[in-house]
Amino acid sequence: MFEKVLIANRGEIALRVHRACKEMGIATVAVHSTADANAMHVRLADESVCIGPPQASKSYLNIQAIISAADITNADAIHPGYGFLSENAKFAEIVLQHNMTFIGPKPEHIRLMGDKIAAKKAVMEAGIPVVPGSDGGVTSDAEAKKVAKAIGYPLLVKAAAGGGGRGMKVARGADQLSEALSTARAEARAAFGDDAVYLEKYLERPRHIEIQIVADSKGHVAHLGERDCSLQRRHQKILEEAPSPALNAEKRAEIGDITAKAIKKLGYLGVGTVEYLYEDGEFYFIEMNTRLQVEHPVTEMITGLDLVREQIRIADGASLSFKQSEVKFLGHAIECRINAENAETFAPSPGTISNYHPPGGLGVRLDSGIYAGYQIPPYYDSLIGKLIVHGRDRNECMMRLRRALDEMVVTGIDTTLPLFRRLLLEADIVDGDYHIHWLEDYLSREAG
Ligand code: ADP
Repeated sequence: MFEKVLIANRGEIALRVHRACKEMGIATVAVHSTADANAMHVRLADESVCIGPPQASKSYLNIQAIISAADITNADAIHPGYGFLSENAKFAEIVLQHNMTFIGPKPEHIRLMGDKIAAKKAVMEAGIPVVPGSDGGVTSDAEAKKVAKAIGYPLLVKAAAGGGGRGMKVARGADQLSEALSTARAEARAAFGDDAVYLEKYLERPRHIEIQIVADSKGHVAHLGERDCSLQRRHQKILEEAPSPALNAEKRAEIGDITAKAIKKLGYLGVGTVEYLYEDGEFYFIEMNTRLQVEHPVTEMITGLDLVREQIRIADGASLSFKQSEVKFLGHAIECRINAENAETFAPSPGTISNYHPPGGLGVRLDSGIYAGYQIPPYYDSLIGKLIVHGRDRNECMMRLRRALDEMVVTGIDTTLPLFRRLLLEADIVDGDYHIHWLEDYLSREAG
């Protein structure tokens, strides 16, 4: 087993990986920008190395600095967390070239799934159902018009290099197509340096349901059920739950099996998530994420498995610690993403936390690196913590989540806590009756 792992990330996920390492007897190295010198992941790690100034491009995305930090501390492996370099195939290759282990998939799979057009084709060939759309990229407006006619409107123009909901534009009719194409292209060029786009049928009221998979180097693949991430704002997940209120055991097993079989066929290694839209009883693949997801704790809470531990073991060459037949889903879990943002305007709210009281008690988990006196830097993502609650059933889980939200205190900055307190009283949320546009509809009703 590895003796020392360098964690190439910050915030709650750096802490999450650190915790798994410690429980496995592995020493940790934190890397940080100058803005994060006092962060909790730095304080708790066995060693830490400053890798650059606040801008992520000069620190958390600085491959040279991270590799040097791993070299001087003699780390055996690098865990990339999520975001930053986690889906950068080049980074994974460089780590391997330096005789260290990349705790993640093979570079070829990161590259394949990073190109959404190629990914769609590959998974389709492996037996996964996809959203109807253009077979590949569309290069000209004329070609797009032709494809659009065949798929029908409304449709979605999507960036091949897409991520974080960027480079996505809806066209409700032929008159909106060329504008959607040019805006999506411009956005994709600015965000990813690649303006390749493709077309997909726009689903009106689907749910976002994703399947967690785990694959080892011996050819064992298991699925750990689904997460329902339909509550979204600007294509960004806000709250996630497992199991999905929309699936029964039969549907779960069906899509889980299809997904696990396809992943085996692709020869994938490590943890990964296959994302689907689900409408009228049908699943449609949208993308695969080749990393640990922000919302992985809801799966951990209902399966009792530690996904980061599993990831590290697999990277070290071990077999899965369980068989598919041993995976049991127990009760219900919900995660709220707590952001340092105004709960009404969503304006970022960096600053100093004056008071902090985390909730506790049975079934309550808080993944966060904040503390009283912590200064949230303005340079990064606004996620400051995840509150994850487990109950024996969905009702118990919701009651417990409301209780935990009421207990939690974070002052000095704005957070999205009040939004969750409101949302959990909404009848549709209580009933589990929502889809990917529900939250935006709700927010515009509230604002109007
Ligand atoms: P990204 O990589 O930018 O996150 P995804 O393909 O994962 O992009 O899609 C993000 C979100 O965008 C989905 O969860 C869903 O809300 C919406 N979306 C994506 N494709 C479609 C589609 N064909 N129809 C309707 N909504 C879609």
